[in-house]
Amino acid sequence: MVGKRVQGELLTRFMAGDRVALARTLTHAENGTEQFPSLYDELYARCGQAVRIGVTGPPGAGKSTLVEALALHYRKDDEHTVGIVAVDPTSPFSGGALLGDRVRMQRLTLDPGVFVRSMASRGSVGGLAQTTDEVADIMDAFGFPRVFIETVGVGQSEVDVASSAGTTLVVLFPGAGDAIQAMKAGLMEIADIFVVNKADLPGADRVEVEISDMLHLRPEIDGWQPPILKCSAHNDEGIAEISEAIASHQQALIDSGELERRRRDHLEHTIKRIVEAAVRTEIWEKQGQLEMLESVIAEGKNLSPFSLAERIVKRIFDEVRRS
Ligand code: GDP
Repeated sequence: MVGKRVQGELLTRFMAGDRVALARTLTHAENGTEQFPSLYDELYARCGQAVRIGVTGPPGAGKSTLVEALALHYRKDDEHTVGIVAVDPTSPFSGGALLGDRVRMQRLTLDPGVFVRSMASRGSVGGLAQTTDEVADIMDAFGFPRVFIETVGVGQSEVDVASSAGTTLVVLFPGAGDAIQAMKAGLMEIADIFVVNKADLPGADRVEVEISDMLHLRPEIDGWQPPILKCSAHNDEGIAEISEAIASHQQALIDSGELERRRRDHLEHTIKRIVEAAVRTEIWEKQGQLEMLESVIAEGKNLSPFSLAERIVKRIFDEVRRS
């Protein structure tokens, strides 16, 4: 009863735009608390208004600097508040940078119109992609017109970002020969906009040509040809062009019906993930299942793991059918 009242107060404050209530709600998501599912239910109806911008690329590309520059660009208009989720362990937002960068970030973090949440990439309950989605949803529900999701572009995380963000920026930089290789391994497909950052350094044109050559090999997706934009985030140069490209991409997503389709795909994907996790818990945490595993192993000494697993699946479903 008390819990319900506290939760009601939290929601009321959240709806009223209280940042402390926002921070608490995010902590519920990150810690996967018992109250979180019902909080999420209450907030979910308010989601879907924000433009979500994924920013990914190799460490050191200048993702955080770019997010900062874009946020400052939007903040020229007071109404354009910005939410930032940083899941990049090397990001200055996540505390992984040199002191100089952190001082720079303060330009943002002291602005009440900007809210930054750093996410630990380890130990999050329910998986990083899941929690990142929830955090972005909560920021969306809070009413930020734009939510940035910054992840370091290695491994599966960038693909997950792409599936949740409306617009994905892939950030590269001169001298990032390895980065181009990394693109082949997955970044290429997910980019809606390529950003060649550090255009103040030599070699930016070459990176642009390399990306452009690769793009010729990639089929156009839903009529959108990803632009390649050069900028110097550090010097606030080329930032307005990137914000224009984000707006054009969003409009193209709406016009082609792709935004709806992406949201629907993402919802399906998310539901599947939650169901799978719940089923997994149900199977292995249920009384007696581990004993069954041991007995199946004991009974079928010479059988392969496939056959043993098949037996287990059969037994579980037989049991479900009986009950
Ligand atoms: P991240 O790891 O991708 O988030 O990269 P950071 O934003 O932390 O930037 C990495 C380094 O590149 C920092 O030392 C930045 O100051 C520097 N940097 C960022 N943008 C630029 C730029 O436009 N030009 C130059 N020369 N350096 C930049």
